[in-house]
Amino acid sequence: MEYKVFLIKYAEIGVKGKNRHLFEDALVRQMNYALEPVGDFRMRKESGRIFAEAESDFDFDEAVEALKTVFGISGICPIMVGEKTDLKDLRRLAAEYVGQEYEKKDFSFKAFVRRADKRFPGTSAELAAEIGEAVLMEYPDLTVDVHNPQVKLTVEIRDHIYIYSREIPGPGGMPVGTNGRAMLLLSGGIDSPVAGYMIAKRGVSIDAVYFHAPPYTSERAKQKVVDLASQVAHYSGPINLHIINFTDIQLAIYEKCPHDELTIIMRRYMMKLAEHFAVEQNCLGLITGESIGQVASQTMQSLFVTDHATGMPVYRPCIGLDKNEIIAISEKIGTYETSVLPYEDCCTIFVAKHPVTKPRLNVIERSEKKLKDCIDDLMREAIETVEVVKIHAHQ
Ligand code: ATP
Ligand code: MG
Repeated sequence: MEYKVFLIKYAEIGVKGKNRHLFEDALVRQMNYALEPVGDFRMRKESGRIFAEAESDFDFDEAVEALKTVFGISGICPIMVGEKTDLKDLRRLAAEYVGQEYEKKDFSFKAFVRRADKRFPGTSAELAAEIGEAVLMEYPDLTVDVHNPQVKLTVEIRDHIYIYSREIPGPGGMPVGTNGRAMLLLSGGIDSPVAGYMIAKRGVSIDAVYFHAPPYTSERAKQKVVDLASQVAHYSGPINLHIINFTDIQLAIYEKCPHDELTIIMRRYMMKLAEHFAVEQNCLGLITGESIGQVASQTMQSLFVTDHATGMPVYRPCIGLDKNEIIAISEKIGTYETSVLPYEDCCTIFVAKHPVTKPRLNVIERSEKKLKDCIDDLMREAIETVEVVKIHAHQ
């Protein structure tokens, strides 16, 4: 069957009163964003339902894939829409739907009716019985099973008749834009794009910072981060990517601080710079792809020392995941292949052979004093020379 309309279901938990309005508006905005490259769609809200109606030709699979990137959607139902006239037409439409939707007519089914328009004659139960009978008359090899039907034939009577039986699972979560904004520290690795995805899934809008260290890191490494941001933007919506030139700060640390502390000190300055841009963008937290114990800079002691560099909450959604679990998510969301491209990262260039794994805050703070003559100027320089790129999913 050629579908023109999708009924969008969303989890209604916590979506009461004024919140419901905000939730639905954000959902519609993200649906528009996702469907923009697929075709012209009109979104319509109707008592706890959202309909996406195509006003141009479109590819069905592409539309479903796009809707699967919209957080807040729990189910995507392709529906048949018919004129609401009388019982005879209702029976005919239901049989027609089954005829077009299912090639083999040998399954068990149950008809469900939701009579939102109470003027339509008959109770929901009576109408369900009518529909069941009409479908059986047309296709005698079908059976009715009220306990465990293979097909749930759902008919909603509203301003039109809506018929559907298929619900494609959505991504769940909450619509982006319903839960504030956070700043993602986005490297070219596997973990940070996944971290951004996971926080966006809770309704949080995302901006990002990337620490670039030319000429030690190449333009290709930067392009890789732009590509990853664009992939995350499929889910999160547009991202302001801040590309920060980190070279001079890294060189200063390298020159003046103990080499086994390079990584942890560098990470603390990353946090401080990220916080600066987070405040500027009205973000309420930072996001990283850290996971306990993954590398020396992610031991509990290192995370403790890193956290003390910023007064902002740091959200680390990968914190309890194993690498293979993070990889599984990155494959699902489509960032994995880009993440494993072999370009150098600024962290990998200035790493010590034996970095401290149990840094102590007072020791690290003492080492940082060695930077006191230059660090303020270097930080200011990094802030002033930032390059901000607006990243869209559909570049
Ligand atoms: P990832 O796979 O996300 O790069 P990783 O395993 O390489 O993580 P680290 O290099 O220790 O781990 O980085 C930990 C976190 O710090 C990253 O997940 C990311 O949030 C942030 N980060 C690291 N390098 C950069 C960078 N160059 N620019 C922005 N953020 C970075
Ligand atoms: Mg990394």
